[in-house]
Amino acid sequence: MIKVSKAFKADTVHMGRLEKGADIIQSLERFCLENNIKAGWVNVIGALEKGTISYYDQQAHMYHHQPLSGEYEIVSCSGNISLKEGKPFAHLHIVLSDTDYQTVGGHLWPGTTAIFAAEFVLFALNGQADSDLLERCPDVQTGLALW
Ligand code: ZN
Repeated sequence: MIKVSKAFKADTVHMGRLEKGADIIQSLERFCLENNIKAGWVNVIGALEKGTISYYDQQAHMYHHQPLSGEYEIVSCSGNISLKEGKPFAHLHIVLSDTDYQTVGGHLWPGTTAIFAAEFVLFALNGQADSDLLERCPDVQTGLALW
């Protein structure tokens, strides 16, 4: 059963490069704020110098973190843009490969990445009205901020 669903129309597709040393999530959230993007789909590829991946402990209702530093390819980094507390919020997951081509992945923790080089594609979406937007709210069952 679907719990939440909203209909959007595709708007502008933004493509660009992130600044060396920048944080992926903070950069995208700022871009969305500046461009009035309240919903979207995002994909990032490139390379990282550091970052923290996380997983959500479903029993303890808390995130566990794994900081990484070194040379990593961003094999895939994708997620969505919606609203949290009225502001654009990026929820991204990432798969990284190291210098031995081994991959790790998880929930990308905000404010932890230093980009070496990265390119993004952001598909901005428009609701029919502001009431059609997806807003994250605390969910008692999971302990997460969900739609
Ligand atoms: Zn996540």
